[in-house]
Amino acid sequence: MLDCIKVETCTRTGTCSPPVITERPACAGCTRLISERFLMCVNGAFWHERCLQCAACQQPLTATCYFRDTKLYCKNHYRQ
Ligand SMILES: [Zn+2]
Ligand SMILES: [Zn+2]
Repeated sequence: MLDCIKVETCTRTGTCSPPVITERPACAGCTRLISERFLMCVNGAFWHERCLQCAACQQPLTATCYFRDTKLYCKNHYRQ
């Protein structure tokens, strides 16, 4: 099980509480740069909020997720 952590991008140093990233990362799901203010951090990789979903049922993964064969799953589908 992995934690899905919502983080905020911030280019103004000193004004945001951690965790904060200051560069636009590439999404691990769609590989595009993430330009939104908020993004999801899972196991050291960054995701668009909309890209972070179960590979089987497309359910949004907001708090915890499961990683298998480079794909993310919800609790139910990971066990199948
Ligand atoms: Zn994405
Ligand atoms: Zn699922």
